Amino acid sequence: MSRLAVVCGGSRGIGGAVSRLLAERGCRVAVVSRNEDAARAALASLHGADHVALGCDVSKEQEVQKTFETIQKTCGNISYLVNAAGINRDALLLRSRPEDMLALLHTNLLGSMLTCRAALRSMLHTRGAAVVNIGSVVGLKGNAGQSVYSASKAGLEGFTRSLAKEVASRNIRVNLLAPGFIRTDMTSGLKEEDGARSIPLGRFGEPEEVAQAVLFLLESSYITGQVLVVDGGLQLAM
Ligand code: NDP
Repeated sequence: MSRLAVVCGGSRGIGGAVSRLLAERGCRVAVVSRNEDAARAALASLHGADHVALGCDVSKEQEVQKTFETIQKTCGNISYLVNAAGINRDALLLRSRPEDMLALLHTNLLGSMLTCRAALRSMLHTRGAAVVNIGSVVGLKGNAGQSVYSASKAGLEGFTRSLAKEVASRNIRVNLLAPGFIRTDMTSGLKEEDGARSIPLGRFGEPEEVAQAVLFLLESSYITGQVLVVDGGLQLAM
């Protein structure tokens, strides 16, 4: 029977590439994003049938509970959970608005906590279950103009390591993948020529290159509580 993978933020960008790769590898994919139409549209690019699309704001506890109950009822137990739903609201702290700070923390950090909490019970029933949370190199290194975003991603690192310890005895693995600059809607406002100068490999990454690393973490069997950086060497220069 095929494995069920839930990809939050799976309608586009990094999550979109993860959904496509997992479908290619024979998983049944539940694509989750706020915009249900966009999630449904993303199904068209997935190999195979049987995939499902759900509209859900991961920062809202009741929506998350309801969504994971629906997934459990219609698709069965979850093998893989990928938390790629995220937003950015770049600003110097002095110019940051409290509502933007809350949106960042609620989506990027609380959202992953809520989806993990909602998925874990179901994951206890599958062999080789695994979670990959998508952090960021700026959560590891910090970046001016991204203090709140960095905090949300650094929080995700602590969350990932602690949860990995909590659920290891149940054979569920939890890892963090920290991308650098990846070519998606989130970075569409950046000039690649400027950003790429600080990247040893000299270019932004593609979502598919992150997806390959997510797949590696999901399919591994003895890696948990780790951070895998996929950034073209950016971290070396930060
Ligand atoms: P995109 O903006 O391309 O895609 C974001 C995805 O998240 C969309 O599917 C979006 O769908 C979904 N999403 C956003 N907010 C919510 C929410 N509250 N509930 C459910 N779904 C939501 O971003 P990327 O693919 O670039 O980013 C994916 C992750 O990778 C993020 O966590 C980001 O912080 C991280 N990252 C990205 C980097 C980059 O350079 N691109 C670098 C480092 C980290 P919808 O709008 O319909 O909800």
